[in-house]
Amino acid sequence: MSIGEFELIRRYFVRDKITVPGHPSVGTPQVTLGIGDDAALLEVPEGERLVVTTDTLVAGRHFLPNADPGDIAWKALAVNLSDLAAMSATPLAVTLNLTLPEADESWLAAFSTGFWNLADIYELPLVGGDTTRGPLSVTITAMGSVEQRYALRRSTAQIGDVICATGTLGDAGAGLALALYAFKQASLPLASDATAAALADEALLNLSDDHQDYLLDRLNRPSPRINSGVGVRGFASAGMDISDGLLQDLGHLLAASGVGAELEIDNLPLSDALKAYARTSLKAHAQARDWALSAGDDYELLLTIPPDKWQQLDNTPAIKSKLTAIGKVTKTLGLRLTKQGKAWEHEGLAGYQHF
Ligand SMILES: [Mg+2]
Repeated sequence: MSIGEFELIRRYFVRDKITVPGHPSVGTPQVTLGIGDDAALLEVPEGERLVVTTDTLVAGRHFLPNADPGDIAWKALAVNLSDLAAMSATPLAVTLNLTLPEADESWLAAFSTGFWNLADIYELPLVGGDTTRGPLSVTITAMGSVEQRYALRRSTAQIGDVICATGTLGDAGAGLALALYAFKQASLPLASDATAAALADEALLNLSDDHQDYLLDRLNRPSPRINSGVGVRGFASAGMDISDGLLQDLGHLLAASGVGAELEIDNLPLSDALKAYARTSLKAHAQARDWALSAGDDYELLLTIPPDKWQQLDNTPAIKSKLTAIGKVTKTLGLRLTKQGKAWEHEGLAGYQHF
């Protein structure tokens, strides 16, 4: 590398009172000892458990090779924070392992800016990591904490629970179609598994710039639902994040809990941008619905909430307004889709697996 490992870390990833005056992640109470020694010392709030998750993003597989370095960093951190949110945890600290073909300073500057853009929202300190030379990949480990009784599991959904999702679904699927279209226009080589995803059609390309930017942003810079995850402590009976598509992830939750579900497709929460696309034709309407059901990368939370707790959430509109009821947990195993309460056939949905 043209600059040494220590210099690289110091320049882009170490923040202290001298280089970043008043930076919030310096001296955070959970970090007894940060970067600079052989390992970090962290303090977990009394009575809480340490929650640990890690994810690797690889160029060409998890993001397009021409992706913006700031977007890559944001997303690598966001997917890990989303897993903490899914456990109802509060983030404590992260580590970053970066493998780079070369230490390109402008790339690193953009990457670290994207990283801190998200980390700073949660005043999240970077407490360690490693840099190596090789094909571009980013591994982040996120640590958080939660009282054991509030930690959300997949296996604890109860019959009769309301199934709900945070935010909106399908945006990242539409965003990927736009990104792949732009990528193909530039005649860049595509990994074989990426070619299976739908390319943007005329109607998507004709959406307003604002709508298109919104959909791309949802793909590139997902918002981890930390506040919702913490907000449903004591209310939700089970939960996970939606990374592989609603149907697939709900299938995992139902299987783990030994229950079934009914899902009302007319209640799927769609963004204004995706609704604008869906209105253009019947085909677009079906495509938008399929993205909401089966496209991955939305990083919303999928939660089950007992009916009485669902009612109680009316008293905390700041939390409840982020949630949309999309179905209910049933004793009958399997997943049944309904439209206006009537059984609905779901043919040809990508990513859907019967179980
Ligand atoms: Mg997850």
